[in-house]
Amino acid sequence: MSQTYGLTPEEIQELSKRAAAAKDVSYSPYSNFRVGCALLCEDGSWVIGANIENASYPVTICAERTALVKAITEGKKRFRAIGLSVDVSPPASPCGMCRQFIREFSDGSVPIFMYGKEVGECVVRTLGELLPMSFGPDDLPDRGARSQILSGSLLVNDNIAGLCHTCVLEGLG
Ligand SMILES: [Zn+2]
Repeated sequence: MSQTYGLTPEEIQELSKRAAAAKDVSYSPYSNFRVGCALLCEDGSWVIGANIENASYPVTICAERTALVKAITEGKKRFRAIGLSVDVSPPASPCGMCRQFIREFSDGSVPIFMYGKEVGECVVRTLGELLPMSFGPDDLPDRGARSQILSGSLLVNDNIAGLCHTCVLEGLG
């Protein structure tokens, strides 16, 4: 990989190690598809997660969301890098739901390092590459403007400049 995404070689190595080690705490008795995730938080700390399956299959939680929920409940809401490790080759990428979940707490520039089973096997994409034209918190009008939109009392606002008149009136967008 030629780009380092603002990370030191030590941080990249640590990301790989921690994502791989996180697979050990995966609870995946149904699929036997272990996934480990490591987050490098903005404050330099690390949080790991793994996929947690359930006998009621749709209740399963992916490794990325497990790690993010842990981090966010510890007050860490911004991330410098995300590492994801699986036991297959080529590496797996985050599912659609996780891409959107990551988007809530990251802009498009956060790199996602995807590690496969072969030594040194790694694919890196930014969130923006994995989720182009994404919808995130900044796309919502602020709360005050939104309630005015819903009550029909606000027709023009910087935050809703992209909405057509009908959408504004109907509170859509
Ligand atoms: Zn997922």
